[in-house]
Amino acid sequence: MRVFSRQVVLGGHPYRIGPATVEIEGSRIVGVSEGARTGEVDLDLGDKLVSPAFVDPHTHVALHALRGIGFAQTDGNVVEDLFYRFERLLSAEDIAAFARMGAYDRLLSGVGLVWDHYFHGEAIARALAELPMTAVIAPTLQDLDGPGVDRWEAELEATITIARDAGLAERGIVAALGPHATDTVSESLWERVLDEHDALGVPIHAHLAQSVEEAERARDRHNRSCVGWLRDLGVLEVPAVFAHALFVNSEELESFDERHTLIACPHAQLHFGFPARIDLWQRAGVRWGVATDAAASNDSCSLREELRYAAGFATAPASFSDAYAAFLHQTGDARGVWRARTRARHVLEEATPAGLLHKVWGFAGGLHRGLRAGVIAEGALANLAVWDLEDVSVWPAHDPLAALVYADAEHALHAMIVAGQVVGTPGDLRRSIVTSDTFRAHRAEANDRLGRLLAQLD
Ligand SMILES: [Zn+2]
Repeated sequence: MRVFSRQVVLGGHPYRIGPATVEIEGSRIVGVSEGARTGEVDLDLGDKLVSPAFVDPHTHVALHALRGIGFAQTDGNVVEDLFYRFERLLSAEDIAAFARMGAYDRLLSGVGLVWDHYFHGEAIARALAELPMTAVIAPTLQDLDGPGVDRWEAELEATITIARDAGLAERGIVAALGPHATDTVSESLWERVLDEHDALGVPIHAHLAQSVEEAERARDRHNRSCVGWLRDLGVLEVPAVFAHALFVNSEELESFDERHTLIACPHAQLHFGFPARIDLWQRAGVRWGVATDAAASNDSCSLREELRYAAGFATAPASFSDAYAAFLHQTGDARGVWRARTRARHVLEEATPAGLLHKVWGFAGGLHRGLRAGVIAEGALANLAVWDLEDVSVWPAHDPLAALVYADAEHALHAMIVAGQVVGTPGDLRRSIVTSDTFRAHRAEANDRLGRLLAQLD
């Protein structure tokens, strides 16, 4: 398939926008010819902006089934109190059905690749491959506590199966090792994960220091911090993507290097009432990205919204600064507050539209050596998002990249190509998908399964 536009996002960060023809074979881009259109193309997109589809580096697509359910429960440990009870009831078929719904929502907000972490990972892998949605699947491993405690051997087996499945790889589905967290995975299972890393060469994708309980359990059981314990186990010697990293001290932040990536999930963390300090991560020189986590704790699940939060976070610390406290108590002046604001802004200087988009394009798309995504270049997954810059939600788009970060650009999403397949009808993307027989059948199945599960919870 050949796709042409006069406005294709080319290069890495920094980006340039220009005319190009993108040549696609199977799920991959096999060539990019810059310049005016020459010869026949299958899709001429005119002046529409063609960008890489977004990469969501930490999510649980099946938790779409719990959207909105956690709000009444945010005082306790919502993961343990509510999710676990629900999750213990789930079959592989339930999870596949819910994963499809979560993936449709991602598709309609411009996401083409998800780093998913959940039980019955193989069922998710096969459901997403059909949709299509590309993914790094980490079947959740936990042997001490949690709903998957009796399934860790099966999930490890599934990890190996996915990692060795050439058919899935061709469709843009690969594996990561998914130890759940430091308090739900034993020392021996972490060691087993390291062995499998050596055998498979795939990265680790885990939650890290997410809750006060996890931090206290590390202290009680191992007499050290979550990061300190992982360091002693040798886990920090291999490439890893760590979600949340809330209870990580400054010295530990400084010790992360190019093998480690911390992921903030701003809106999910706002829901829990404790957003990660990405400004401090930046100051410590840590590699970091943003992700959605799950609809259970982030109803929007729009990765683009996470970018706008990250951009806003550049200035938010001024409101909580000592300088502003001094102003409130009449011991400091307005100019002092403004200086604090300017210092905070300086720290997140890379929070420009292009810098933020890079986090969900080439940066997140380069975290797994088994596939390349988030960039329009030969060899990368053919995951493209097409934006109508004439849509009123982004018009007049003087700076198209700024429009993607700051405007409600989902409304301008004209077409999606995922794993080389055109999803829905270009120009009628949302309606064509949500009125299709396939979507309706998938939603009916998910509704039916969810109804039965919730009845069991009452
Ligand atoms: Zn998570």
